[in-house]
Amino acid sequence: MSLQYDLHSHSRSSDGALSPSELVARAAAQGVSHLALTDHDTTAGLAQAQQAAQQLGINLINGIELSVTWNKHCFHIVGLNIAPDCPVLMTGMAKIQAIRWARVEKIANLLEKKKIFGSFAAVTQAAGQTGMITRSHFADFLCQQQYVESEQAAFDTYLAEGKSAYVSTTWAGLDEAVSWINAAGGVAVLAHPMRYHLTMSWMKRFLTAFKDCGGRGIEVVTGRANPDEVRRAALLAQQFSLACSVGSDFHNPKNPWLELGRLAPLPEHSQPVWDLF
Ligand code: AMP
Ligand code: MN
Ligand code: MN
Ligand code: MN
Repeated sequence: MSLQYDLHSHSRSSDGALSPSELVARAAAQGVSHLALTDHDTTAGLAQAQQAAQQLGINLINGIELSVTWNKHCFHIVGLNIAPDCPVLMTGMAKIQAIRWARVEKIANLLEKKKIFGSFAAVTQAAGQTGMITRSHFADFLCQQQYVESEQAAFDTYLAEGKSAYVSTTWAGLDEAVSWINAAGGVAVLAHPMRYHLTMSWMKRFLTAFKDCGGRGIEVVTGRANPDEVRRAALLAQQFSLACSVGSDFHNPKNPWLELGRLAPLPEHSQPVWDLF
């Protein structure tokens, strides 16, 4: 079996469309040999995913994508190869989950000010008992109720930074999130580095802080990255001695342009993050 890593994906435990076992089955069908499930701020889907992976004979790497605030901006730190039952990680996760919960109510209240009612009930029902509620859930609701024509329009009109239902949120600190991942024996990886639109000097400041906290990897090949972005991320990895990860950030089979495992190879001379597992 050839090796195909995909180390960033979402299930219905956060804002993915598939159940953990459906996600694993789809990954297997796409030829993925090593999949990481990295739901937003939760490990709730990992047990089901592990079970499915054993049945299908693919490797499931326990992961998480933590929401972090650094210098007033939101960053996503993927934790790979974590021990989900680590008490330090569980306590940290609970802290972010409480922040997420409080934010759900605030977003719903802002939508009510715009005469949009019922979002709280809809998103909590959609997420179920253990699912993390994200802005994507609100985008789905706004689409289904025909307040907007697309999820993108929901972000552009209501949910994106600066829009009427945007709630500025202070997530975990960078040092906290990285320390929880390290306590759980995992590898902390900066997710989708080009999606923050940082200047080079801010990117370098961020990566310096990330390294100082114990961060060890950066996503070099991501689902939507073009060859120039891959090259720039690989250069940053080299400059900061970070291991290189690959991950599609798959959420939904509805997006045919973004599929599990459909990823460019790592550039030559990159140190793969899985060497650290
Ligand atoms: P949250 O962590 O609750 O702020 O939700 C973030 C999630 O919403 C991301 O992981 C994406 O799946 C999705 N998302 C964020 N920004 C956008 C956007 N501009 N357009 C579409 N989806 C987005
Ligand atoms: Mn998401
Ligand atoms: Mn992300
Ligand atoms: Mn993600």
